[in-house]
Amino acid sequence: MARIIVLGAGVCGLAAGILLRRDGHEVIVLERDADGVPASIDEAWERWARDGVAQFRQPHYLHSRVRIVLEETLPDVATALAAAGATRFNPVQLMPPFIADRLPRDGDERFETITARRPVLEQVLVQVARAEPGLELRNDVVVRELLATDYEGIPHVHGIRTEAGDELRADLVVDATGRRSVLPRWLEAAGAAPVYEEIEDSGFIYYTRFFRSQNGAIPEFRAPLLMPVGTISLLVLPSDNSTWSVTVFVSAGDRPLKRLRVTELWTAVIAACPLHAHWLDGEPITEIRAMGGIVDRYRRFVHAGRPIATGIAAVGDAWACSNPSAGRGISFGLLGVQRLCGVIREHLDHPLQFAQAWDAVTEAELTPWYRETVEEDRDRFAEIESLRNGRQPEQSPGSSSGLRRALLAAMARDPDLFRTFLATRCCLTPLREALADQNFVARITELTRDSPSPPLAGPDRKQLLSLLDHAAA
Ligand SMILES: Cc1cc2nc3c(=O)[nH]c(=O)nc-3n(C[C@H](O)[C@H](O)[C@H](O)COP(=O)(O)OP(=O)(O)OC[C@H]3O[C@@H](n4cnc5c(N)ncnc54)[C@H](O)[C@@H]3O)c2cc1C
Repeated sequence: MARIIVLGAGVCGLAAGILLRRDGHEVIVLERDADGVPASIDEAWERWARDGVAQFRQPHYLHSRVRIVLEETLPDVATALAAAGATRFNPVQLMPPFIADRLPRDGDERFETITARRPVLEQVLVQVARAEPGLELRNDVVVRELLATDYEGIPHVHGIRTEAGDELRADLVVDATGRRSVLPRWLEAAGAAPVYEEIEDSGFIYYTRFFRSQNGAIPEFRAPLLMPVGTISLLVLPSDNSTWSVTVFVSAGDRPLKRLRVTELWTAVIAACPLHAHWLDGEPITEIRAMGGIVDRYRRFVHAGRPIATGIAAVGDAWACSNPSAGRGISFGLLGVQRLCGVIREHLDHPLQFAQAWDAVTEAELTPWYRETVEEDRDRFAEIESLRNGRQPEQSPGSSSGLRRALLAAMARDPDLFRTFLATRCCLTPLREALADQNFVARITELTRDSPSPPLAGPDRKQLLSLLDHAAA
């Protein structure tokens, strides 16, 4: 049995804490925000003070990868989430109408998910963590720095110091402090070489409103969850207890669209999108929530096979975080937690081997997801920039971005392509794996050859700007 300190009680920190405790370790989870998890879902939604997580009340969708990891590792969390009103949802039902063969198939159940608003998921996780015998969850504790000693020429982390000056010793420290993790700074202060870090502003800004159904049923899906419409993208996410969110996201540099912050203008734009307007038919439970400044950030802690420190592992957003339009952060995060626990089981007694093994697993299983998410976002960003500058987006049919775009069109006409596409969306199969299949690529090419682009399901750029001007007048 080891003593493990987990930093941060967000989704990944809590999941890691529960799992590691169940593996027999002595585990302490430290969280900067005060305790005070509300008893009811409505209170959690309205009043839970979670300043440590900027996106706490932003839209969150849980892909089937989350359900799968929960059922494999934390089935009681999956059960409690369902009991808290999470929605069971299978995106196979989003099959485009042009596909004639609509019969269910064996294997479709892998796409099924359970999804809920972020505060509901966290409330469930905190309740399970609090009920876990021997798991210590300490709130109101801000971690300030790492404690480390030299181990074969690199710092070995053996604990942490809090803002209050308390020192806690550990065999392993897990950083789950999220997007704002300052692990590189902590490691450098402990004498480590610089962390390899890639960081860029994803360039998007989100405008979201949440709704609740007035009759218990959520509106019908007439489009994919995420849909580009010219220079805007629309995201409609089913959630728990008959709620849903509707988001418009745009390029952060697109000044005229900053007016989407105004409720009437935001509403006018959604109302002008024929496949989405009916999602306004509910009771609004928030005003428009805006969020920008969202970075894509990736870190690596092993250089040329040598870790820059031992006794420390980063997981979830503390390791890598990306623009959330594909809603994958919690999928990567929980998959990472699951894999981290496996590496801890095998290598904890050998700090150097542990650091190398965790790096190898991360690079093989998690980094490819991060890379393809960022690539996709860059493509979409470039497309928006072209359109808003009056140019047609560049088409490069053989490139991975060309293939990605072609897949979007082709999957709407073929039940197999549709399912492969869904598997990539749900974080089950990386896109590069799907695109490595020559038959798959040939089918995409065949279906998109000479086929016209689908009509825009909403206002074009000119109409959008005119709509915003008129609605504002
Ligand atoms: C706008 C937006 C929308 C998103 N939508 C989705 C979605 O639809 N689906 C999805 O899967 N993902 C989504 N994500 C991503 C998702 O929110 C993150 O991937 C997820 O929160 C990562 O969990 P985490 O536990 O790693 O970090 P967090 O949830 O950020 O938790 C970190 C915790 O560490 C604590 N902490 C920080 N510093 C310290 C310290 N020094 N001492 C002690 N405690 C500390 C914080 O208070 C916090 O509780 C979205 C993100 C954004 C920004």
